[in-house]
Parts: sequence; C-alpha cells; structure tokens
Amino acid sequence: MTPELEKPITNLKGVGPKKSEYYKKLGIETVFDLLYHFPRRYIDFSAPVKIADAPRDEPCVIRAELVKKLSAAVVRSGLSIFKAVLTDGESDITLVMYNNKYGFDMLCVGKEYCLYGKVTGDLIRKEISSPLILDLSTGETVEPVYLLTEGLTQFALRQSVRNALLTLGNNIYEPLPKWVMKEYKLCSLSYALENIHFPKDMNTCAIAKNRLVFDELLTLSLGMRLLKDRSREQSGCVMRKKDISAYYDSLPFELTGAQKRAIGEVTGDMCREIPMNRLVQGDVGSGKTAVAAGAAFFAFLNGFQTAMMAPTEILASQHYETLSGFLEPLGVKCALLTGSLTPKKKQALKDEIAAGEYAVVVGTHALVQESTHFQRLGLVITDEQHRFGVRQRAALSDKGENPHKLVMSATPIPRTLALMIYGDLDLSILDELPAGRQKIETYAVTGKLRERAFGFVKKELDSGRQAYIVCPMIDENEKTELANVKSYAKELSEGFFKDYKIGLLHGKLAPDKKEKVMRDFKDKKTDILVSTTVVEVGVDVPNATCMVIENADRFGLSQLHQLRGRVGRGKYSSYCILITDNTNEDSRYRLKVLSKTSDGFAISEEDLKLRGPGDFFGSRQHGLPKMKIADMSENVDILRQAQHCAGEILRRDEKLTSPENKGLKELIDKLFADKMSEN
Ligand code: ADP
Ligand code: MG
Repeated sequence: MTPELEKPITNLKGVGPKKSEYYKKLGIETVFDLLYHFPRRYIDFSAPVKIADAPRDEPCVIRAELVKKLSAAVVRSGLSIFKAVLTDGESDITLVMYNNKYGFDMLCVGKEYCLYGKVTGDLIRKEISSPLILDLSTGETVEPVYLLTEGLTQFALRQSVRNALLTLGNNIYEPLPKWVMKEYKLCSLSYALENIHFPKDMNTCAIAKNRLVFDELLTLSLGMRLLKDRSREQSGCVMRKKDISAYYDSLPFELTGAQKRAIGEVTGDMCREIPMNRLVQGDVGSGKTAVAAGAAFFAFLNGFQTAMMAPTEILASQHYETLSGFLEPLGVKCALLTGSLTPKKKQALKDEIAAGEYAVVVGTHALVQESTHFQRLGLVITDEQHRFGVRQRAALSDKGENPHKLVMSATPIPRTLALMIYGDLDLSILDELPAGRQKIETYAVTGKLRERAFGFVKKELDSGRQAYIVCPMIDENEKTELANVKSYAKELSEGFFKDYKIGLLHGKLAPDKKEKVMRDFKDKKTDILVSTTVVEVGVDVPNATCMVIENADRFGLSQLHQLRGRVGRGKYSSYCILITDNTNEDSRYRLKVLSKTSDGFAISEEDLKLRGPGDFFGSRQHGLPKMKIADMSENVDILRQAQHCAGEILRRDEKLTSPENKGLKELIDKLFADKMSEN
C-alpha cells in the first residue's frame, strides 16, 4: 500500500487535533480511511427544473441568475438573515441564508448559480432557504453529499479529501493485477478515488463506483475463499463408502428427495481427503436433524464418533431425543452432555466419551468444545439456527483434530446472499418439505381485532393447546409507545388471560432462567409464552398451535416466517395472527406475502426485494465484514463478476503469495482484521 495512505489525517493541511477528533467519530483516522469515506449520495446539478415547476415537498435543483442582493437584516443578536433575488428568466425566487455572511458575500450579481434545496411559498412568491449553492464556473455539475458529524462541514470534508488526493498525486497504488482490470473493464484505483469524490458527471461517478464496489466484493470473496481453504489444508478423517440403508429402513417415514440428496452430498464429502465443510440449509420443519442423523450413522459405521452442538441446553436435549430415537435402535449409543449433570456424573460421562463408549454426543457448544475429549472424533455437527457465525466457524477450523464439519441453519436466505455469507462452506439445500406438512394459517389484522384474536387463542387453550404471543423487545430507555414486553405480559395475565398460566421469555433473562421458562412451556406448566424474538431459536413444542405477533410490521418477513415456524410442529392445525396498526400499503403487502406462501426461500427473496438486504446484513448476525460501498442486493452482477474473478485469481495463485497480488492480500487482511473484530 502507498505509505502515505497509512499516515494519520493530521498530516493533511487543515486537519489539526480538534478536527481529527471529529473525524475519529466517523471512524476516520488515516488518509486511507478518509479516501474510503465515500459520499452517501450525489446531487446532480446537470438537470435543473424551472422555478415554477419545483416540487413542493422535496428538494430539487434550480438554475438561476442573481439579480439583486437585498441588504442583510439582523433580527436579533446572533441571528442575521441575508436575502437575494434570482431569476430563471420566467420566475423569480428569493434566496434566504442565515448567519452566513461569508457565503453571501461570495455571491455576485449577474452570475448564474445552481441551487439545491426545498422551494417553498406560493405561486407568486417563492423562496429557497439555505440551499446548497454551486458556482457554475467551476465546470462541476455533481456535488457529493457526505455523512458528517458535528464540527465537520461538507466543505471542510471535501477540502480534506482534495488535499489528500493532491498529496498523493500519482502515487496511488494499484492493488489489482493488470489482467483483472483489463478483463473486467475497470478504471484504475487512482481514477476511481478521484472521481468518486469529485465526479465531473454522473457517468464518471458510475465508472468510479463500479471499480470500488468490485474491489470490495472481490476482497470479500477472496477472503471467504481463503477462509474456506484454510481448513482444507490437512486431511481429515477419511471415511469409506458404507451402506446406510439400515438407517433409511428404520425411519418411521420416507425421507424427502432433498434429504436423500443432502445425505449423499454429506457422506460423499466425508470420504474425501480434505475435511468436509458443509452447510445444510433448510426451512423450519424440512428435516435437517434426519440428515444429521444419517451423517452420524455413516460416521459410526466407519468407526468414528460424532459431536453435535446446539446453542442452548434445551435445544441440545431436544436434538438428543431425536437423534437417539433415530439411532439407538440401530445400536448407536448416544449421550447428552449438559450443565445440569452433577460434576461427578459429568466426569463419568466424559470418561466414557473419551473411552469411545458413545458414538454420538450431544451438548451445548461450550460443553462439547471446552474440555471434552473424544476417542475418535470424526464429525462435528453445529446447529446454528439463525446465527451465521463466520468467525466462529473460522475458530472451529483452527482446532487441532480437524474432523468433518456439518453446519445446520434454519434461515433460508436468497442464493446470491448465501454465496457470500456461506462462501466458506459447501451448500446443501433442503428445498422440499416432508409430505403432509400442515400449512400454518396466517392472518394479518389490525389492533382493533386484537380481542377477537385473543378470543381465538382462548379457544385453542381451552381445547388443551398452547400459544405464543410475541412482541418486539424494546429497550427500557428507548422512548417509544410500543408495548414493553414485561408490562404487556402483566397486562395479559391480569386481564384477558387471567385464568391461564403465562410464562415470560426475553433476551435479558439469564440463560438458566431462559431454559427454565422454555422447559416449563414445553412441559405444559404454562399455557401461554409471552416472548420477544428469542423464541425464534428452534424449540419444538408440538402442542403449541397458535402464535400472535404484535407489531408485526416491525419484523422482516424472513424473521416472521421463522417465528411462525414454532407452531405447526405437531398433528394439530396451526395458526399465526399478525397484528399491526400500520396501514401503509407496503407493510400490508409484505404481510400478505406471509399469508399466501409458506416457502421460506420465496419469502426471503421477497424480503430482499422489498426491504433490501438489511435484514440479512444489517443485523450483523452473519459476522461478515461491513461493506463501505457495495450493496449485495443492488450489486448482484458485480458480485457475480467478483466471485468469478476471485476463483480465477486463486487458480493462478492459490495462497496469494505472488507480488502481483500483494495489494489484494493487504486489502483482505485489512477488511477482515478490523471489521471482524467489531462483532
Ligand atoms: P428442522 O430441524 O429442519 O426444522 P426437524 O429435523 O426438527 O426439522 O424435523 C421436523 C419434524 O419432521 C421431526 O419431527 C422429524 O422427525 C420429522 N421429519 C423429518 N423428516 C421427515 C420426513 N421425510 N417425513 C416425515 N417427517 C419427517
Ligand atoms: Mg431443527
């Protein structure tokens, strides 16, 4: 990298200690940071509207000649108002500026300006106050708009960027190999940085942006691939082909085609020289556990142990029940390792595991990872539920034994995004639900119908079923009128549902309390579980048949889909009632999507279209580095190109050690080093 780029911004003219503090608030400490602080948007002055045609409520650009400066008026001490009259030949407009003598003095009568701002007033008297003013004599027609912080102005920031570019001159390094720039028709980095900040027109701006987005996505793609390959260096526990039809035959149901295909992919991987690194992604209820059990059986036949890790104890015991139900009849011994065992029992169990007594061990991440030794560990299955942890996965692959790894996730995400988030894994998708699955009847209603919805819930409870009521968790100090889950639960238990037992679950509860609340619900000690979204994690309570979701418009579609997957897990018809008072068309359309479809992948695609990738990327659950300029849903084409390019680069230079890739390697280290540690 150009050494100048690594220097602190105080090296730049006009940036003293005070300014540098402001910059720090924006995360800008070095010249590099400054140049990569890209404009959020641009104002295009090249297409002004007539003053008479200016829209009412949104800012626009007008072009007019200054005809007269009116004198300044000091309204009261500390406030002075400056006014001037401009014309576009057809109509006049009054320009108003506050406390900006310097700016006002710079304006000259007879000169033409472009103004960007909101035009107010009526047909006869129009006014524009404190607009952005562009001096047409500079030849620029595009003005960038930056994210600022108090103490910094657009002008000052642009000045600093200008100085940085001047200081660097022609010395800006070029991280991309020549052939890449040629093949993907990219401008140089130097051109891109100049024109993203000072574009002559929107076209040059687009060229610059294309290059910078490409860089970012290429860096990410390369980084993810290197992560994937890192775990592939040593050979794992190579297995041999075995006949697992005994497993198929013992199941009480016929596996779906998707399940069989996934098992085939998984067992195929385990026979290879390099450890498996595979994700099984499937909607709630698609039967991921049956796939995991098949893999564990295959490992067992090969004389290897399997560890299965779940995020919570309750999920671990649930998995244990399912796995042992599937596998014990086949002579596969399963163990459940939980924190609630006495230390003595725990130690005894661990000793047995170390002696190879058990072929399958289920437990929480902590328990299994911590101090458990296996005699011959061949397969690690992780149930991530909706947490995608690139970093955790990376950490796991750093462990010595290097067993095969299988990750299960219940969050269907659009394919283009999956390519990124799970770029370090091979993907098996369960896109088929077992036959005869019940559709969860889903209705969207307004708060006016809340009583009726509750009445419906009551009926279900009275026939012996259970219910979830979900409302979003609101921070205590966040001023909002939304129901706070605690007082909400209290209200229900004293009001409408006073004859029923209510459990309360929220993220702030200690883990053991959470477990207990869940356990009580599962054991039918409570009838209703009032909960924040923590209930999203895949707990199975087949007796729960209805779910009411308050403020449903607050959630992403995928999340709502995930939530409602908590019901419909037993033999009873199940229902989901979405309550929202948001009558906005978009919001109603979104909720309708849920009533109509039960395909998680389709829903996630819809979510991506309607809300952008924020629900997938904004939550930061995925653990991917944060993007500065690329937008995965908008830049899908560039994403594909970047992925293709990453493959090509690594094919030529597997570990990125050649000099021509030095710049790229630095960018990868930078992106993954600072950004991953934020999680
Ligand atoms: P997921 O974890 O993908 O949400 P599970 O593995 O918990 O789904 O399976 C949900 C339920 O469906 C379980 O009770 C399981 O035994 C059952 N199941 C799995 N595969 C099939 C199948 N092919 N046909 C019928 N039932 C199945
Ligand atoms: Mg599951």
